[in-house]
Amino acid sequence: MLCPCGSDNNFDVCCELIISGKEKARSPEKLMRSRYSAYATNNAEYIFNTYALSSKKSQTLADISSWAKETTWLKLTIINSSTFNKVEYPTVTFEATYKSDNTFYMMKETSRFVTEQGFWKYLDGNHLEHTELTLPKRNDPCICASDRKFKKCCG
Ligand SMILES: [Zn+2]
Ligand SMILES: [Zn+2]
Repeated sequence: MLCPCGSDNNFDVCCELIISGKEKARSPEKLMRSRYSAYATNNAEYIFNTYALSSKKSQTLADISSWAKETTWLKLTIINSSTFNKVEYPTVTFEATYKSDNTFYMMKETSRFVTEQGFWKYLDGNHLEHTELTLPKRNDPCICASDRKFKKCCG
């Protein structure tokens, strides 16, 4: 299967390498992509484990797991990644499209990252936008990353 993060690579040579621990996320963007792919594949444990220690306190595995199950993640677009060698908290800004309870949403967030013991971790995120999407017409291109018609894909 193609990696959910939208890289055009297969999952097993992209985010799965990082999620499974075979490879390290070498940049905040790689970590962000792997966390998105973990949501898309219902891997709550990985999402929990990649929160920074200070942010972990306000998270529970159960909450992350139920949110991952309630949502179907359709598309990720990275808008901007800051350089990560000159700033204390590098950022990644992205847009993600998901479906929950038969409604489609787009969220735009700037996330902050921090290193802990040599590993990138997700610190927190600032929601810039979170809106319900107007659905495409049945024969229009789907809102996810596929090239299929909406009615034959996510519709
Ligand atoms: Zn990926
Ligand atoms: Zn679709």
